[in-house]
Amino acid sequence: MSIQEIRLFGDPVLLTPAAPVVDFDKELRNLVADLTETMLDAPGAGLAAPQIGVPLRVFTWIVEEELGHLINPVLDLGSETEDDEEGCLSFPELRYNTPRSLQVVAKGFNMFGEPIVVEGTEFLARALQHETDHLDGILFIDRLSPENRKLAMKEIRESEWFNLQNESGNTPKIKESPHTIFGRNT
Ligand code: ZN
Repeated sequence: MSIQEIRLFGDPVLLTPAAPVVDFDKELRNLVADLTETMLDAPGAGLAAPQIGVPLRVFTWIVEEELGHLINPVLDLGSETEDDEEGCLSFPELRYNTPRSLQVVAKGFNMFGEPIVVEGTEFLARALQHETDHLDGILFIDRLSPENRKLAMKEIRESEWFNLQNESGNTPKIKESPHTIFGRNT
């Protein structure tokens, strides 16, 4: 169990759809532990596996001091939406109003492969949607109004973290999944 480097916007792993988990093994439980530890250290309210370079459908959250994790999530979104402030550990210091459903029912599995259902409202609902988006390579800036997106892109281009990442010139690597998916490593 260890704190992992959080990938920032500009890293291709954040735009890559993640693969479903097929092996509910010790390696998966280590991944959940790493995500939890890295999220708490940041600190953040949620963290998805692609954000630490692992393209698998796994994320963790901490909302109202309750820790959770979900694997291979499928979301059922309520029709009522709310436009409220949101941020992301892959975009340091960026916060924009982002429209999200107020209620969500998330179905998936825990790290032992047992089916679970998580019902979230308000902030938990927002976190579940934000993290599930990460698994599809969708980022919160993709959900912004055109005006806010323009402002966000400008703020990103002018940010120190984005420019440092570009200057370093090293292409971030996507970590190979340790899991065999459909008979091949993805
Ligand atoms: Zn995020």
